[in-house]
Amino acid sequence: MRKRALRPLPVWNIESVLGAFTQIGVKAVHAHALWNWLARNPRAARWDQVRWDEHVGLPARARELLVAEYALYTSSVESAETASDGSTTKLVIRLQDGHAIEAVQIHHAGRLTLCISSQIGCAMGCSFCATGTMGILGDLHAGEILEQLQHARARAPVRNVVFMGMGEPLNNYAAVLESVRVMVDNTKFQLSPTRVTVSTVGIVPRMVQFGADEPRVNLALSLHAPTQATRESIMPAARAYPLPALLGAVDAYLARCRAGKAVMIEYIMLRDVNDAVADAHALADLLARRPVVINLIPYNPTDATPEYARSTEERTMAFLKVLYEERGLRTFVRRTMGSEVASACGQLVKDTQRPGRERAVRDIEDAAGGRAPRKPRRRGGAEQPAAAAAATAAREPTLASGAHERAAALWLALRSRIPAVRFEPVHCLAVATLVCALGARVFAPRAGMSGGGGLAGLASVWPRHPSA
Ligand code: SF4
Repeated sequence: MRKRALRPLPVWNIESVLGAFTQIGVKAVHAHALWNWLARNPRAARWDQVRWDEHVGLPARARELLVAEYALYTSSVESAETASDGSTTKLVIRLQDGHAIEAVQIHHAGRLTLCISSQIGCAMGCSFCATGTMGILGDLHAGEILEQLQHARARAPVRNVVFMGMGEPLNNYAAVLESVRVMVDNTKFQLSPTRVTVSTVGIVPRMVQFGADEPRVNLALSLHAPTQATRESIMPAARAYPLPALLGAVDAYLARCRAGKAVMIEYIMLRDVNDAVADAHALADLLARRPVVINLIPYNPTDATPEYARSTEERTMAFLKVLYEERGLRTFVRRTMGSEVASACGQLVKDTQRPGRERAVRDIEDAAGGRAPRKPRRRGGAEQPAAAAAATAAREPTLASGAHERAAALWLALRSRIPAVRFEPVHCLAVATLVCALGARVFAPRAGMSGGGGLAGLASVWPRHPSA
């Protein structure tokens, strides 16, 4: 329905290239060798930059076909805006047919997470989302999805990919599945499957299908409400898939996955809509006994959705307290700045659809928040474990910048490396606080620095904080 005709086609349209090679009698191995080379050389933007002499045995007719019908890039980076603190870079990518999409690089502790788009606009119409007000303008080809990754890799190595940009990924299922498989292919982009996350608003049949097709990668569910009535009021798509069916799909997906895997539950905190303590209990009831990680996302008001406001910190903390402390659910509060760029589903403003418009793209925070940050503020895609987040306000200033992040990193590292043991964030926080305190005392004088320098000196022996 939304298939877009491109000419030339992206060379990363894997199925297309393989089909074309078959038609002219060229073995698939030659195509795979080329993709391997391209993955290692993302800065090669044109065919004349390809080292053809390294593709021994590639028939001339295959090369002629590639040059005539396919392009290394069908899109281009129109702008790249980096946040004042350098933590995020937003790439506005102009597609061959004039549409614009967005990918966001999130830098954290020397590693990079890329948030990418799967569609142009979105048909889901979530009432709190600026992208949802655009409607759907088209599906991306698998090659266009992968070009976002290539554009980012041409700038810096990418460690994690999250499908949380524009669009509902499972509504462009074939292209998303194809692109995910290329990302985790050991002969191509070589990303770890555990570092690729597909986020969905909850397309039930495709969630189940996704578990069957690609159980290695992560699935995130944008739940956003604990009851069917509230969910329908903010997410029209919820009418098609009631909560029991949605949770059934979560269970079916998990049944396909390895033991110990969890589904990320995304929950945007909307003031007086879904952020009451009763909502937290309802959410806990809904998710009880399921392997989930709940991600509470502070909302940024937007010009496109002025009826919503961000929950107060007090309400967010009360919500968190119920989920984590009272109900024992693994829960995070996403940081409010850079994390907003990467966390929500794509919120590219409509202006970006106009080629050549000066400063056509506002930040995702602008789309979601209606304004750019007025001063440098802390940004990042990282999340805080519940205990750490709850403790943030009460911590000593000299420890505030170190302990909770180390605790988060330690907890997540232990959880991923030793999944059979359930480590509690609060224990990691205690260890991190103790070691950070020792670090401030032991290392700072020797380094001639303040406590922060002491903490920095410990960085080399602590696990880094995951950026997704
Ligand atoms: S939140 Fe995600 S699914 Fe909902 S309208 Fe926005 S982009 Fe689409």
